[in-house]
Amino acid sequence: MKFMHEPDCIFCEIVAGKRSADIVYQDPEIVAFKDAKPAAPIHILIVPRKHIATLNDISPDDNILAAVGRAAQKIALDCGVAQKGYRLFINVNKGGGQVVFHLHVHLISKAID
Ligand SMILES: [Zn+2]
Repeated sequence: MKFMHEPDCIFCEIVAGKRSADIVYQDPEIVAFKDAKPAAPIHILIVPRKHIATLNDISPDDNILAAVGRAAQKIALDCGVAQKGYRLFINVNKGGGQVVFHLHVHLISKAID
């Protein structure tokens, strides 16, 4: 599968293997890796391989958020937080705290043993 990559997008570079990241999950649509500046003991970024700048830019027929949800289920199980609990959130644009303009979902949990 081929994806449009945006020049100078650090998440596109990670998806393309041109920048290192601590990758915890991959499938044909999604790459997930540890946040470089974690805000909690578990802080994973779930990133579509396809460059989509913000949540506002998802096209109406795109099911990418379903793929993100399925990835989150698996990552939460792998990290041991599926039952203990975790939080998913998306920052949209600068006013919402978005820093990297390639759509990503934060998976955060402070529930560690
Ligand atoms: Zn990108």
